[in-house]
Amino acid sequence: MALLSVVLPSYNEEMNIANTAKTLTELFEKEQIEFELVFVSDGSKDGTFAEIKKAFEADPRIKGAEFSRNFGKEAGIFAGLELAAGDAVVVMDCDLQHPPEVVPKMWELWKQGAQIVEGKKSSRGKESIFYKMSAGLFYKIMSGLIKMDMSSSSDFKLLDRKVVDVLLQLPERNTFFRALTFWAGFDSQTVEYEVQERKYGTSKWNFFSLMRYAVANATSFSTLPLQLVTFMGMVSIIFSVILGIQTLVKYLMGNSVEGFTTVILLILIIGGFIMLSLGIIGHYIARVYEEVKGRPKYVINRVTDNVHGNVTGGWKK
Ligand code: UDP
Ligand code: MG
Repeated sequence: MALLSVVLPSYNEEMNIANTAKTLTELFEKEQIEFELVFVSDGSKDGTFAEIKKAFEADPRIKGAEFSRNFGKEAGIFAGLELAAGDAVVVMDCDLQHPPEVVPKMWELWKQGAQIVEGKKSSRGKESIFYKMSAGLFYKIMSGLIKMDMSSSSDFKLLDRKVVDVLLQLPERNTFFRALTFWAGFDSQTVEYEVQERKYGTSKWNFFSLMRYAVANATSFSTLPLQLVTFMGMVSIIFSVILGIQTLVKYLMGNSVEGFTTVILLILIIGGFIMLSLGIIGHYIARVYEEVKGRPKYVINRVTDNVHGNVTGGWKK
C-alpha cells in the first residue's frame, strides 16, 4: 500500500503539535490512508521538540527533527522532504491553517495520476488589513518578477516521490519552494481551500520579514532587476544626448546654460542611478557569494529515535 508523508515545518508551535498530530491521525485512519507525520522544529525556543518527541513515543508513525537554530521555513520544508519516506509527500503548516480535510482530496488526485497537487487559496481567511496589504504587495512583486501568478499559491502541496527527488537534487541553497514546483514541471492539478484561522500561538511573519522574503525570493528566481540596471543606463544615455545637443546649440548661439543648477541636478541624478545599480548588482553578488560557500541549508541538532542520518542531511529512511 502506498505511503503518504506529511511534512510540517514548526517554529515555536508547542501548543499546536499535539492537536495537529491528533487531528491528522484521526483523519487518515478514518480515510484508511497509510501515513507518517514528519515534524521539523525550526530551532524553536519553546517546547516544540519535546512535544514532537512525546507524540513519537505515543505513535511511531510520527517522526521529527530539530534544527540547531532557526533556519527558516524553506529549510524546514526541505529537511522534511529529505526525511519523508512516502510515495507522495504533502507539505502543510502545522498550525492547521491549511485545512486537513483537503489532504484526502489531494491523495485521490495523486492516485488518479497527478504528480503535483497545488493547494490554491480561495480566500485568505481572517487576517489583519495590514497583513493582507503586505502579503498583497509581496505577491504583486513576486508575480511580476518571476512571471508566474503567485497570488493564490501557497506552500500547501502534494508532491509525487519523483518530484521530491528532483527538488532534493537541486544544489541551490536559496530555495523558493512555492515557485520551484512550477519550475519542476510534471502533471499538476489544483485543489481550492479556505485558509483557516490559527487556533493557538501567533503568526511568525511581520511586514519586514515578508519584504525580506520577497526580495530574497524575487532575486533567487529572476534576473529582471539586473536588466533594470541596463534600462536605467539607456535612459540616462538618451537623456544625456538630448541635453548635450541642447547645451551645444545654446553655446554656439552665444548664450550658454545656467551653470550650477544643471551641474548639481546632473550629479544628483546620475549619482542616484549609479548607486541604485551598484546596490542591485551587489545584492546578486551577495547571493552568488552565499551559494558559492556551499554551506548546508540547515543543521540538525536532535532527531526522534526512528530517524537515522547525519546532521546536515543524507538521511537513511
Ligand atoms: N515556520 C517555520 N520557520 C519559521 C517561521 C515559520 O518553520 O521561521 C512555520 C510555522 O511554524 C508554521 C508555518 O511555517 O507551521 C507558517 O508560519 P505562520 O503560521 O507563522 O505563517 P502564516 O500562516 O501567518 O503565513
Ligand atoms: Mg499560519
